[in-house]
Order: sequence, then C-alpha cells, then structure tokens
Amino acid sequence: MEDAHISSDLVRVILTEDQINQRLAEIAAQIDEEYRDKDVLLVGVLTGAVMVMADLSRAMTIHCSMDWMAISSYGSGTQSSGVVRILKDLNTDISGRHVLVVEDIIDTGLTLSYLVSNLRSREPASVEIMTMFRKPEAAENAVDVKWVGFDLPNEFVVGYGLDYAGKYRNLTSVATLAPHVYS
Ligand code: 5GP
Ligand code: MG
Ligand code: MG
Repeated sequence: MEDAHISSDLVRVILTEDQINQRLAEIAAQIDEEYRDKDVLLVGVLTGAVMVMADLSRAMTIHCSMDWMAISSYGSGTQSSGVVRILKDLNTDISGRHVLVVEDIIDTGLTLSYLVSNLRSREPASVEIMTMFRKPEAAENAVDVKWVGFDLPNEFVVGYGLDYAGKYRNLTSVATLAPHVYS
C-alpha cells in the first residue's frame, strides 16, 4: 500500500494556505466595494472553483447569491480547444443580473472566453470575472479578468480545488507533483 498522505506526493509548495487567505481577503474587500449597492450573483465553475467560491464568499461582507455551471472542453489530450459543452446549466435566470464568474484557474482562457460569451447572450446587467490563479498563456486570449488572485508560472499545479486525475483538490496549499505520481 502506498503512502496515503497527500504531502508525500508533493515536490514544491507554490502558495501556502495563509498566502491564499490573505489574497482572498484583499479581493473580497474590493468585490464588496464594487457590488455595495448591487445584487451580485456569484457563478462558480465546477468542480475546481468550489474552494474559491467557499472562501471568497465568506470573506465578503455584502449579500450575494450563488449558482453553478459544469462545463467540459471538447478536444483531444490536454490542450483546451475552446469548444465547450454545458454539462450543468445555471438554475438562475441571469437577465438583468450582475454576474461575477468565479474561476479556479485560467490557462489558455479558451474555456472562459466561450463561457463569457454564452453568459452575455443571456443579457445580464454585467459580467465580471474573478480567477484565483492565472497562467502566462492566458494573455494570448484576451479575456477581460477583473480580479486575479495569483499569476503562476507555466507549470502544472494541484491543490485548492485543482486536480490531477480527480485527486488533490482537497490540498489546502498549491503545489507541484512529484514525478512518481505521473508514472
Ligand atoms: P483553459 O483556460 O486552458 O481553457 O482551461 C483551464 C482549465 O484547465 C482549468 O479549469 C483546469 O481544469 C485546467 N488547468 C489548467 N492549468 C492547470 C494546472 O496547472 N493544474 C490543474 N490541476 N489544472 C489546470
Ligand atoms: Mg475552472
Ligand atoms: Mg482538472
């Protein structure tokens, strides 16, 4: 039986739980200010954004509602194609609503750019984006992201909602995986 502890699979911690919480507090204060007199709907993208949604919303002090979408990228292998299928749509009619999309990570930005144009077609009052993490490649697909937690190097990371083969989402920090995990 292999060591069941997550920590034995990690090589390097990129962000600690404290760093993540501090940054979330800063962003939550800005979001509070932005939506002070607006009724904001937080839209989380399953499954990666569950941790950000839970922590960001509790760091906020204004009222908010929450809803969820599940989407899946078509395309082969690990490259995002930008062609997206909605697996679970919102329960909420967002027309006339102030929508804040809450994302875990933007890599190419293709998934998000599809999602945002899909949401815009429903005629909300506004659509903004908050992402906890962003990779360098995101700059190539200009999606206008209002709040970014951290810019990360171009390395595959896990934790804080981010998975490898469905696991590691429950890690409280963000880290890189040891080579033995991939083999
Ligand atoms: P994109 O922005 O390329 O369309 O796709 C973003 C999605 O790719 C994220 O929601 C996430 O599922 C996955 N992704 C991108 N970079 C990473 C990473 O470093 N680690 C993990 N676990 N997933 C990633
Ligand atoms: Mg995501
Ligand atoms: Mg994943």
